[in-house]
Amino acid sequence: MNAGRRGIALHWKVIIALVLGVAVGAIVHEFWTASAWSALGVGNPAAFRTHKPSEANLDAGTAATLLRLVSELNDFVGRFFLQTLRFIAVPIVLFSLIIAVAGVGDLRKLGRIGVKTLLCFGFTLIVAVAIAVLLGKFVAPGTFVSEAARAQILDQYSGEAAQRVQTAHQLKDQGVWAYLLGIIPTNPFSAIANAQMMQVVASAFLLGVGLTLIPKERAAPVVAFCEGLAEAVMALVRLIMFVAPIAVFCLIAQFVATVGMGALKSVLAYCLCVVGGLAIVLFIEYPALMYICTPKGNRMTPGRFFRGMAPAATLAFSSSSSSATLPVTIQCARDRLGVPADIANFVCPIGTTLNMDGTALYQVISVLFLAQLYGIELTLAQHITVGIMAAVVAVGTPGLPGASVIMMAIVLESVGVPTEGIAIVLAVDRVLDMSRTIVNVSGDAVACVVVAGTEGTLAKETVTA
Ligand code: ASP
Repeated sequence: MNAGRRGIALHWKVIIALVLGVAVGAIVHEFWTASAWSALGVGNPAAFRTHKPSEANLDAGTAATLLRLVSELNDFVGRFFLQTLRFIAVPIVLFSLIIAVAGVGDLRKLGRIGVKTLLCFGFTLIVAVAIAVLLGKFVAPGTFVSEAARAQILDQYSGEAAQRVQTAHQLKDQGVWAYLLGIIPTNPFSAIANAQMMQVVASAFLLGVGLTLIPKERAAPVVAFCEGLAEAVMALVRLIMFVAPIAVFCLIAQFVATVGMGALKSVLAYCLCVVGGLAIVLFIEYPALMYICTPKGNRMTPGRFFRGMAPAATLAFSSSSSSATLPVTIQCARDRLGVPADIANFVCPIGTTLNMDGTALYQVISVLFLAQLYGIELTLAQHITVGIMAAVVAVGTPGLPGASVIMMAIVLESVGVPTEGIAIVLAVDRVLDMSRTIVNVSGDAVACVVVAGTEGTLAKETVTA
């Protein structure tokens, strides 16, 4: 498609929006303090912003009301965008996966694609975990934090951390067999109604397999019905993506305006370690794997991959949710990277629930960081335990904002590191969540490219606008 005729390409618009959002958010956080409000006649900003009456706000003029409206609009646009994507997440997993499984038709071919997909997920996960163990051990980020900073952060975030530890305990008490059983829903409609993604994946997969087992003429109308719906949902995604730049701006600006950059400073070494590890996975491991697995003459070069994935990556960054990003991930893989629809429809929904390299890497480095912070010496066997536990836990982590932090309690307990430490990583979690979600989402597209590349079905021409 001709980018020139359509103005700036979408991915550039989204990236520009991201940078602008950070800048505006930082300015608001720095300068929009209580005294700025009081200059406009607002004595109690919290009450004013939530429309609660307060004596202190009687002088609030039009300017203050207008500013409040801007901030509310900003919040609305961001939430509206995420909500429309969530609306699409369940139908897209359901219909895409049914037609992908049923469309492969031949169970042997399905088996081959399935095995390749799982091998790719497994390989990238193991490499990501190995990178994390090496970085966590040799960079030793826990040795950089001062005693005073540690006490301060623990104090500030301990309440929220306790809540997450409790959720993790509930999950752990469930036991592994109950967890495995829980993947198969007793009622697929309730799984769909409650957006239980793992169960929706299982239902779609089973229905798809069922369709391959009945006569073709009986299956065809059902597949055509699902195809029509899947196409309609994808058309909605393309429509929604027009407002993506504005939504990304709103989401980021609000986030930076609320938290600022302050929390980052005291645990900078840890953050850099996580971001460095994620960068190694994203810029070295993935490109190398895709280069090897795509045919000569049609290689997936890093430039081609990152240009194609930019809309999904920026959305992953601003939403911190691979589930919410899923429709865009599928669209990027299909329309921009040249992955055939049947492979993208099959790999991406499964990847969103199972393939979490960024999450695994993050959990390993965080647990090692906390162990170092508490002065707990871990043996080699314990390092390996952390790696294995994080890999297993990452597979079960849902693609939602902050999900890792809840699941991390399980990894911490496996090697006896105090779970209160979660309070420390919680302080900077959102920024790292945004970064690891990019890796989680990209990993799914990598698997698409690897499967399509080795099947010889990766298209040459891709849309870059
Ligand atoms: N936010 C991540 C995702 O959606 C999950 C996590 O917390 O690691 O992929």
